[in-house]
Amino acid sequence: MSANPFSLEGKVALVTGGNAGLGQAIAVALAQAGADIVSTSRRPASETQVQVTALGRRFLALSADLTTTAPIAGIVEQAIAFGGLDILVNNAGIIRRADSVDFTEADWDDVIDTNLKSAFFLAQASGRHMIAEGRGKIINIASMLSFQGGIRVPSYTASKSGLAGITRLLACEWAGKGINVNAIAPGYMTTDNTEALRADKARNQQILDRIPAGRWGEASDLGGAAVFLASSASDYVNGAIIPVDGGWLAR
Ligand code: NDP
Repeated sequence: MSANPFSLEGKVALVTGGNAGLGQAIAVALAQAGADIVSTSRRPASETQVQVTALGRRFLALSADLTTTAPIAGIVEQAIAFGGLDILVNNAGIIRRADSVDFTEADWDDVIDTNLKSAFFLAQASGRHMIAEGRGKIINIASMLSFQGGIRVPSYTASKSGLAGITRLLACEWAGKGINVNAIAPGYMTTDNTEALRADKARNQQILDRIPAGRWGEASDLGGAAVFLASSASDYVNGAIIPVDGGWLAR
């Protein structure tokens, strides 16, 4: 056992959507702190695997489409067989944009099923194991739209507000069982998810003008919060939703 409260030596972290964007940066940050990584993705090749194994950590790639809950039991079983399941990062997520008057049921269901339903049932399946072990860390990747309304993203706002609520609920249910359930609310980060926003020059400038830090966030900006919430340094932090947004919500 390391004396460093931020060390993740000997831990296994399951990161959904760990092969791209924010999930990749979180997986690499957790590996830098000492964790072995189980990453789910729908794509075969993984730059994350290259980076994690270069750090001397073990890596297990699992193929899973989280639009349905069908793969969840298998994911959790395989993570446990790989070496345990100490940390779950519910990162996989999608966004659909359209005016609310035109929003389709398919765009509602896809986003809610991926961002909220699968996240809850992954927490449930992981939580059963963690409760039996008497310890565990669950980190949900929320959003500024866990706190704000936004426009033209009704299912996304509903999913991320719901995820914030579920974070608090699970924290209340499981805090006494040695489990910490918290969330990170990223601001505007440069990933594929936000490419269209950055390509729109006027919208990009509007966003930059409102961010106190004066820049978009990089995926690596989430690493510190993720390592903190995954480590014993956060043992008395429960039900928190930590903004990592360059000051956006403070404005
Ligand atoms: P990307 O589009 O770059 O990545 C999305 C991730 O989700 C990918 O790893 C993808 O995995 C996974 N994913 C999407 N759909 C599915 C699915 N049906 N089944 C399994 N995995 C899926 O987005 P980001 O990295 O930006 O987003 C990561 C998280 O951060 C999301 O929850 C997002 O809502 C949240 N967030 C992002 C912000 C930003 O500004 N970028 C701001 C606030 C929150 P793969 O394609 O490999 O299967």
